[in-house]
Amino acid sequence: MNIHEYQAKSLLKTYGVPVPRGHVVFSRDEAGRAADDLGGPVWVVKAQIHAGGRGKGGGVKVVKSKDAVLAEFDNIMGMTLVTHQTGPEGRLVRRVYVEEGSNIQRELYLSLLVDRATSHIAFIASTEGGMDIEEVAAHTPEKIFTMDVDPVQGVMPYHGRKLAKALGLTGDLAKQAGKLAQALYTAFVDTDASLVEINPLVVTGDGKLVCLDAKMNFDSNSLYRRPKIAEMRDETEEDPKELEASKFDLNYIALDGEIGCMVNGAGLAMATMDIIKLYGSEPANFLDVGGGASKEKVTEAFKIITSDPNVKGILVNIFGGIMRCDIIAEGVIAAAKEVSLSVPLVVRLAGTNVDKGKEILSKSGLKIIPADDLADAAEKVVKAVKEAQ
Ligand code: ADP
Ligand code: MG
Repeated sequence: MNIHEYQAKSLLKTYGVPVPRGHVVFSRDEAGRAADDLGGPVWVVKAQIHAGGRGKGGGVKVVKSKDAVLAEFDNIMGMTLVTHQTGPEGRLVRRVYVEEGSNIQRELYLSLLVDRATSHIAFIASTEGGMDIEEVAAHTPEKIFTMDVDPVQGVMPYHGRKLAKALGLTGDLAKQAGKLAQALYTAFVDTDASLVEINPLVVTGDGKLVCLDAKMNFDSNSLYRRPKIAEMRDETEEDPKELEASKFDLNYIALDGEIGCMVNGAGLAMATMDIIKLYGSEPANFLDVGGGASKEKVTEAFKIITSDPNVKGILVNIFGGIMRCDIIAEGVIAAAKEVSLSVPLVVRLAGTNVDKGKEILSKSGLKIIPADDLADAAEKVVKAVKEAQ
């Protein structure tokens, strides 16, 4: 789960992380009051969306008067902000953050994430902050510093010193870096975060380290024990199809291809996506309906797939183990009746109750293309989509 910058900053502040003062605002009046309270002389007006690259997209403005705060509020609130992370359709701005401006001397990069290779929390740092860190990693990987932390030991003073060295910080700034590393690590562990990214972390004119941007992601599986984090969820920022899927406990990720997939098991779902690509098309989603899905869950999954206008064909690929093929068949039929299916549907069933499942489908009167195995199914759905165009 993601949260907004202003939420991440207020959360990190409770751990002693230095962030600028600021207020989230929803109206012009609130923007004016925020500007008065912060006092200037420099303010920053920032669009709050769950995507980065806002600065380049025109969603971050540094201004020097209250009138300019109001004018930028008017511009940014309600705008459709397009950044390299939103895709070409952009994202509607529904919240704006007004914060005090910092006098920036240097922009650095600092993040914490779970390193899958070591299963440890790792710090990633770079002197090249402010811009796309992906670019830095691609073109000048030697400028990216990585340091992982032993979970038993936690962050020790030497971690702070290594980090300060990597960021070129000395004296009091090095001390501040040590404290910051400790505070960020504690916040990360305490909230079951999966990512904390500070880009830029800045050195100010008066010699302070300040986090000017903050992005946090959390492990959704632990939200049950983090009610304060769960409260920060902003459902308007989520893909409506993914949101709907999460209500039914379906593992669904929207993608931008044309073949909708309904599969049981994450591994089989990945293999199905691969083979769709192999036969020359692209998957419209990842969907694992899980082991013990009910007819209702399958119906819901099918409705979510067909609600995607990009879907030009559907591939149902089920290996019946705990999941029975007849349940899948009933779910597909129930859903197809509700949504009036208009695209080719290929179904490949194998395993438990496969004969019963096939019989249910063939008696349904639905136009279903049966397939024998994975390759056959992929080939048929890609062909059917091409022919329909
Ligand atoms: P994004 O990463 O989405 O573009 P940031 O919060 O990183 O948004 O802001 C983009 C740039 O705007 C920063 O790199 C920094 O140069 C400037 N900026 C952001 N917040 C402030 C601030 N409080 N004071 C001064 N400059 C800021
Ligand atoms: Mg940033």
